[in-house]
Amino acid sequence: MQSGFDLNSLTRENVRNLKPYSSARDEYTDSGADMVFLDANENPFDNGLNRYPDPQQRILKQKLAEIKGVAASSILLGNGSDEVLDLIFRAFCEPHQDNVITVPPTYGMYKVLSGINAVENCEIFLTEGFTLDIDAILDASNEHSKAIFISSPNNPTGNRFKEASIKHLLENFNGLVVIDEAYIDFSSQGSWINRLRDYSNLIVTQTFSKALGMAGIRLGVAYASKEIVEVLNKIKPPYNVNALTQQRAMEQLKNRDQNASQLIQILEERKKLMSDLPQVPCIQQVFDSDANFILARVDNAQKRYDALIEKGIVVRNRSSQPLCENTLRFTVGTPGENARLMQVLKDL
Ligand SMILES: *Cc1c(COP(=O)(O)O)cnc(C)c1O
Repeated sequence: MQSGFDLNSLTRENVRNLKPYSSARDEYTDSGADMVFLDANENPFDNGLNRYPDPQQRILKQKLAEIKGVAASSILLGNGSDEVLDLIFRAFCEPHQDNVITVPPTYGMYKVLSGINAVENCEIFLTEGFTLDIDAILDASNEHSKAIFISSPNNPTGNRFKEASIKHLLENFNGLVVIDEAYIDFSSQGSWINRLRDYSNLIVTQTFSKALGMAGIRLGVAYASKEIVEVLNKIKPPYNVNALTQQRAMEQLKNRDQNASQLIQILEERKKLMSDLPQVPCIQQVFDSDANFILARVDNAQKRYDALIEKGIVVRNRSSQPLCENTLRFTVGTPGENARLMQVLKDL
């Protein structure tokens, strides 16, 4: 348990005092009854999408709650994880006063969001082995440190962080510990969702963009205590998840067999790439991956990146990130795409 954590004092004063916008669709929700809706100035002629979507996404949350074994009141949905992460900044971080802690090399959006929200981004680099430097993180934190953002498995390094390290942070950091689990379905490690009851300062974010194959619908999820979700709900745009997205996400969740077999294929292909990539002459080191991408160190990242582009293959050059000099990040593709990548790499 976390003793120094107090959600009320962590929340920005204006958010604490805010009376949220009450939308027409919030006021009356019993859509099963034979009601006439003349409250929201919609076009009354039914085309399947003429009504505003459910601002609380009840049906979708109920389904997710069943699948994940959490209460629906512990779920917040957003327009991608990017919106969910932005809401965390806006609810808890006072511009020009508070700070967040991030642990590069990591997901670039945390830095962008701190810039947009005028919140100091205190960067504590990972160690050479891409592990969390727990002592440095705790040393750097102060009374203005509202949150720490940890991607596990981590993008772009691909590794997951030790359970004991994250547990130590949860128990000793007085702000929110945000664990970004965008890649959790590719990992052998279980989700921190299962520990929500133990840690009142824990927020777990997941997304429909990666393993679930739905990057195009823009749907991100935060799992946290009902109190944290209440704060975030207060400031989210009322109709942030559109009707088409809610419908498509439901279809996906009801029909998970195909997705499960895709996941198995991706993991098999990752294993294959993990053994094939080290055979390539220009590749010097291949880092272990718990995600659907592999980071590799090459002799000259820019040169190899350009050569791949020349052959019609787009990868990501991560060399500008700390500890990632001369690295390329390869997303695991279809068997055919990976075979083409390997052929091109061998011919370089
Ligand atoms: C891809 C990715 C996301 C996904 O963001 P969405 O806005 O949900 O598409 C989130 N976090 C990390 C670390 C990622 O790599």
